[in-house]
Amino acid sequence: MTPGLLLVISGPSGVGKGTICKALQTLDPTIYLSISMTTRPPREGEVEGREYYFTSEAHFRELLTRGQLLEWARVYDFYYGTPKKAVTEAQTAGRDVLLEIDVQGGLKVKENCPESILIFVLPPSLDELSRRLAYRNTENKDQVSVRLRWAEKELHCYKQYDYAIVNDRVENAVSKIQAIIAAEKCRPRYLEDLWPVP
Ligand code: 5GP
Repeated sequence: MTPGLLLVISGPSGVGKGTICKALQTLDPTIYLSISMTTRPPREGEVEGREYYFTSEAHFRELLTRGQLLEWARVYDFYYGTPKKAVTEAQTAGRDVLLEIDVQGGLKVKENCPESILIFVLPPSLDELSRRLAYRNTENKDQVSVRLRWAEKELHCYKQYDYAIVNDRVENAVSKIQAIIAAEKCRPRYLEDLWPVP
């Protein structure tokens, strides 16, 4: 069986990555949306094992030492990492995998898995991003300004990604990512198992 694609979706906080990933999974339920480990405390409404696996710093370090994370990064004072096993299993079963992770993590994934596909989601503008962050109401004023400063830093990295899309409307962003997935599946290397040439 041809292994599924490994897609990384990054972009500043508030750009709409989560909504885009959920929409992609609703349209194609075979897509595996990776659930990260984090040392960040849960926000109201977040459920263990749905948004994240919430864990202690000691346990996070233990997983790191045991090599169980595909990548990890420290973001806004907390640790975040992608559990390796679930990703490998899903890909082996032929499922496309989405990692919604930050830029540091995305670039590490590319280093370790050069065939991964990095997609950066851009806001229509920085003003629009700050409006979305304020509207989201999950952070206080100080946290919003930390996230905006971090966003400006992250935006500098978008040219290192394979693709960049502007999230003006969720439907547009989703159909662009579907087009990327379709195109990536036409690459000769993806078809090697189906069409082995001696
Ligand atoms: P939040 O705390 O708002 O859920 O996430 C903060 C940032 O951490 C977001 O940019 C999100 O994409 C990133 N993030 C979430 N999970 C992971 C992960 O497993 N690895 C890395 N490198 N970043 C992650």
